[in-house]
Amino acid sequence: MNLVANGLRKSYGNVRALDGFDLSVPPGVIHGLLGPNGAGKTTAVKALATLVDVDAGTARVAGFDVRTQAAQVRSRIGLIGQSAAVDEILGGRQNLVMFGRLYGMNKTDARARADRLLEMFGLTGAADRAVSTYSGGMRRRLDIAAGFILTPAVLFLDEPTTGLDPRGRNEVWATVREVAAAGTTVLLTTQYLDEADQLAARISVMNHGRVVASGTPDMLKRQIGGDRVTVTIAADASLDEVAERLAAAVGIPAVPDAETRRLTFEVGSGVTGLSAVVRALDECGVTPEDLVLRRPTLDEVFLTLTDAPREAAR
Ligand code: ATP
Repeated sequence: MNLVANGLRKSYGNVRALDGFDLSVPPGVIHGLLGPNGAGKTTAVKALATLVDVDAGTARVAGFDVRTQAAQVRSRIGLIGQSAAVDEILGGRQNLVMFGRLYGMNKTDARARADRLLEMFGLTGAADRAVSTYSGGMRRRLDIAAGFILTPAVLFLDEPTTGLDPRGRNEVWATVREVAAAGTTVLLTTQYLDEADQLAARISVMNHGRVVASGTPDMLKRQIGGDRVTVTIAADASLDEVAERLAAAVGIPAVPDAETRRLTFEVGSGVTGLSAVVRALDECGVTPEDLVLRRPTLDEVFLTLTDAPREAAR
């Protein structure tokens, strides 16, 4: 495991920022850390990056203990937060060469590394333009490249796509995948559930300083309930009346949504559930406008597992 935490605790006064935080991430994997505001995500990352001292618990990063071997940990991690360290006036290449020199590389090695990173992250064409002319997505890719000069064993990425448009987000996602493909473990904190769903092989959902659920996105979706069958009812029928009849025929409750005129059945297994609903529609003589089978979304998982306000899951 490249990243292991056992029972981390950290209090600020009487606020328990970490209250028994556990984590286990193998090398080369993108792991998502999700949670509502104040859940303890930043504190967890800071503890693993040796930036805060924990009150109790143990953690190892790239094989080294964060409390007793902090220097070894620091030389093997990259930390990319919200505020970037790149210079606006310099070009992308100059920035990367400068970072390489700061990390102690000689000029030739720093230049070679900069060229390799520019190529890897699709920035070669803009290498000599001032960073101030870059798009948001390009900026973030350069930030990540700067954190990747020494190919860290573990990269901590804090909300890497906040404020980017969809194209910029896609570009950054491709970069994060490149980083993991090169063997680096990525711990990604994000408020965007679709980002975690897209990128992370596994996800830990945090609430009140501890992990309340973890697994692959699919496992988490399955854990909070079965698949959903959603039926859209024509406008000329009474939604409540149809809901009652169908629920009786299927044998499970139907959750109506008056605004969209949809009835949702939480069925155990997709295919059996779908045929039960289709049979019930037939029996009741109801022709739906639409019929959809779907997994719960990660939004639904998040809202079920945490006390996040609804907006936080958007
Ligand atoms: P966000 O998504 O808002 O960044 P988070 O999940 O990263 O939240 P943390 O920043 O780790 O959460 O904070 C966890 C709790 O610890 C919060 O209640 C926060 O107010 C508190 N906290 C964090 N840092 C400090 C500090 N330096 N002093 C006092 N309280 C703190």
